[in-house]
Amino acid sequence: MATAGFSLIPNANPTDARVREEILANPGFGRFFTDHMAHVRWTASDGWHNAEVRPYGPLTLDPAASVLHYAQEIFEGIKAYRHADGSVWSFRPEKNAARFRASARRLALPELDTETFIGSLKALVAQDIGWVPTPGSEADESSLYLRPFMIASEKFLGVRPSKEVDYYVIASPVASYFKGGIKPVSIWLSSTYNRAAPGGTGFAKCGGNYAASLAAQKEAEAHQCDQVAFLDAVENKWVEELGGMNLFFVFKDGRIVTPALTGTILEGVTRDSVLQLAKDAGLKPEERPISIDEWREGAASGEISEVFACGTAAVITPVGQLVGENERITCTAENGGEVGRSLRKQLLDIQYGRSEDTHGWLTRL
Ligand code: PMP
Repeated sequence: MATAGFSLIPNANPTDARVREEILANPGFGRFFTDHMAHVRWTASDGWHNAEVRPYGPLTLDPAASVLHYAQEIFEGIKAYRHADGSVWSFRPEKNAARFRASARRLALPELDTETFIGSLKALVAQDIGWVPTPGSEADESSLYLRPFMIASEKFLGVRPSKEVDYYVIASPVASYFKGGIKPVSIWLSSTYNRAAPGGTGFAKCGGNYAASLAAQKEAEAHQCDQVAFLDAVENKWVEELGGMNLFFVFKDGRIVTPALTGTILEGVTRDSVLQLAKDAGLKPEERPISIDEWREGAASGEISEVFACGTAAVITPVGQLVGENERITCTAENGGEVGRSLRKQLLDIQYGRSEDTHGWLTRL
């Protein structure tokens, strides 16, 4: 038995320790995977069963599996951080578990309880603990990225919720997002594409949202931009989020504004944590609609002193410029971004166990 009801099938051919050390010295992002994966099976007749940790490897899927045709699929992203004493922790995993259930409901997939969700992370990390990078310094933001996902695996081409579903967790060691210091990103304002519409799947973490964002990301890259900002699909007026990060606007009077959760935006765990830390710091956080004109005018006048994006992968990233068909607006000055920098350090200090976890955000894996 591995952890909390997960049985173990050990990998008989684990990665050679020397090769693993070489990978951990330069892991990049999402390119290398650990020796095991967690799995739980669901069927309409038996519910969740067969929790196991087994060797990492290709899945056998029937070509008619509904995930391959109708994208009935959801996922999560969460990191495991190694502290100085060697222990390994995750950050607010119950928030990811709750979001995973919300995504499941939207995609007509079965809900997985928080205990099994967190249990699957623990069971996998217990087996592959040697794959969690040990940061060499404060600037080293390496961690083990955990990717839980759930797929519709029934062999059936009818369009209806699958009666067979598989849940997996895979893990990938990742390096600091920014090598050689934090670099402000440039944001392309897409006037061609929207990400999500009312009543759609914007709040859910389902593969289709990301597939649909790729053409916009290509457009951004064609304009030498790093990321895309999406506006609402009804009025093309309200700022929503980036393809994979939430946005914050820091006003020089201490207000710090992020778009309200309207159902078309992903409810980021980092977003929620930033709102709390901003409040703790005596700033005035606001969750409300913010229009593209307020962004433009505030950045141009200096009333908005900095803009940043946030998410699990890059923590907090300053937005240097907003770029559109006929515009280029500086959002965060070259050496600016103090508020984002300070919030970033506070978050990382909690995640890596360098400061007290006053909100009870850490769970030991
Ligand atoms: N928005 C989108 C569309 C995302 O994919 C992500 C990454 N999960 C986020 C925001 C940030 O969420 P979190 O802080 O939970 O990583």
